[in-house]
Parts: sequence; C-alpha cells; structure tokens
Amino acid sequence: MSARIIDGKHLARRLRGRFRERVMALATRGVVPGLAVILVGDSPASQVYVANKVKACEESGVRSFMHRFPADVAETELLDRIAAFNLDAAMHGILVQLPLPPQVDVRRVLESIVVDKDVDGFHLYNVGALVVGNSIFPPCTPYGVQLLLETTGIDVAGKNVVVVGASNIVGKPMALMLLQKEATVTICHAKTRDLARHTIDADILVVAAGKPGLIKEEMVKEGAIVIDVGINRLPDGRIVGDVDFDVVRERASWITPVPGGVGPMTVTMLIENTLRSAERFANGEAFHPPQPFWQVPAR
Ligand code: NAD
Repeated sequence: MSARIIDGKHLARRLRGRFRERVMALATRGVVPGLAVILVGDSPASQVYVANKVKACEESGVRSFMHRFPADVAETELLDRIAAFNLDAAMHGILVQLPLPPQVDVRRVLESIVVDKDVDGFHLYNVGALVVGNSIFPPCTPYGVQLLLETTGIDVAGKNVVVVGASNIVGKPMALMLLQKEATVTICHAKTRDLARHTIDADILVVAAGKPGLIKEEMVKEGAIVIDVGINRLPDGRIVGDVDFDVVRERASWITPVPGGVGPMTVTMLIENTLRSAERFANGEAFHPPQPFWQVPAR
C-alpha cells in the first residue's frame, strides 16, 4: 500500500493563516514584529533562502530588515551590526544566514545574538536549553518536523527513531527534540558503518544528510514514517530529497515529499519564533536592554 503523504505545504499554510490574528493582537499593543536578516556574500542558494524568508515575513505581517555584507566582511563589522540589532527595540528576531565565509568565526557571531532574539535557536543557551527540554526558540527545521509528525496522530514516545545526519542545525537538535518526547533515538552520520542495519529498525526515520538516493527501499521498515529533510539539486535541475521517494513510499505508512514537505515548515517556524519573541517582549518576559545570557535570571 502506498504511504500517506505528510503535506508540509498544507500545514504551513494553515499555521500561517493563524499568524495574522497574532500580528493584529500585537498591533493593538503598539507592537509590529520585526526580523533582522543578515546576508553575507552572494551565494545563490543563500539568496534564495533569504528571499523566501523575507517574503514569508511580508505575507505574515512581520517587518523584515535586510542587511547585506560583502563576502570579505570583517568579523568585527558583523559583530557591530548584531550589537546594534540587539539594542534595537524594533527587532524581535535576528537571523544570520549560514554558511559564513571562512574569515568569520561562526560560533562567535551566533553567540553575539542576544538569547531573547535568537529566533533560529542556534545560540549556545538555546542549544543547551534543548538538552534539558525548555528552549525558548526551538531550531526551525526540527521544530517543523516535530509538527509534521504530530499531524500523523502517532505518539513518538517509545518509538525507535533513527536520525540520519548529525549537523548542529538539523540532525542533533532533531534527535534531542525527539528524545525529549521519549522516543528511543539513534543518530547516524557519514562515519556510521552499515547504515541500513540502523535504518531498518526505525519506526520513524528522519533523513538529513544532503545525499540524493541515500535511503533505498530495502533500508526502510514496512509501515515506517519517513521524513525527508534533504534538499538536493540534480544536474537536470530537479530538486529531490535524500530518500528514493517512488519506491520507499510503497513501503512506508507516511512520507514527506520533496519539495512540499519539510521545506515550507522551516520558514513557517521562523515566523512562529519571531512572533513568539515579539509576544515575549510585549509581555515583559524578555529582557530589555539585552543582557549576556549568563546574566539572565533563571525563569
Ligand atoms: P550538513 O552537511 O551540515 O550535515 C550532513 C550530515 O549528514 C552530517 O552529519 C554527515 O555526517 C551526514 N551524512 C553525510 N553523508 C552521509 C551518509 N552517506 N550516510 C549517513 N550520514 C551522512 O547538512 P545539513 O545542514 O544538516 O543539511 C542536510 C540536508 O538537509 C541538506 O540536503 C540540506 O539542504 C537540507 N536542509 C533542508 C532544510 C529544509 O528546510 N528542508 C533545512 C536545512 C537543511
């Protein structure tokens, strides 16, 4: 039997439909949610991602502030800009599009964003908070996957989850979020020996490796839920995920397509986090002027 499709486009549209009400409620309190977006260099992929984020802001009533830097920007220049955004009450979220050029220390840049505006969830504080299960802003892609899984109505508690990919922005936070939901989680990566031996046990398989065709039919358990985070452009221009969709869908119970699965959810969760940040500031739950995270009182 063919798997049921987990429709990310549909869920993203539904969630975004509710954002308008929250923006209007904020407006009655004199708040316009704002997102600062920093783009360094002219990588075509980064430009497309940033353009999608800015468009999603516009559609949702979030004001976006684009700031572009040349690829040879000095790290201090970036840090100065972020310091200014940290103090700017019109900005509720600050996003630095990754990757950054080699002369810039990515960790130093991400750690310079005040925790209360870290809507990408990449600051060490939010990463650590994820470990103990109380992050302010869950990272957007795994957060989106979590909501997609919820639409299946299947409880992840006790399920065998295999996450293929261990990056800081997708694989690791994904594994932590599912562990928090009491799944039994295995993380695989490029050095994992005999990948299929792990994936075949998965009740839920989340794949974020960036390798087209990595997951084949025989690697998937009958009836598994398969979430394909991968986005790969083939030489013929087609966009595909990491899962061999046409054959795996015959084996799985639920599956996300690429495109139209995880992708639309990532941008949606960024807007969700930005609205949440604006609401926290409006409710006095955020700390302004911003403080370094080690001075933020326990909540
Ligand atoms: P990354 O390159 O930082 O990490 C890839 C991970 O996959 C690494 O841990 C690596 O060890 C592992 N890996 C690579 N080859 C493997 C193999 N053969 N077997 C097992 N593991 C392997 O990538 P990333 O930033 O985590 O992104 C992963 C994919 O997800 C990419 O295709 C990216 O474009 C996509 N992505 C999609 C969204 C979205 O919104 N849908 C968001 C972020 C990333």
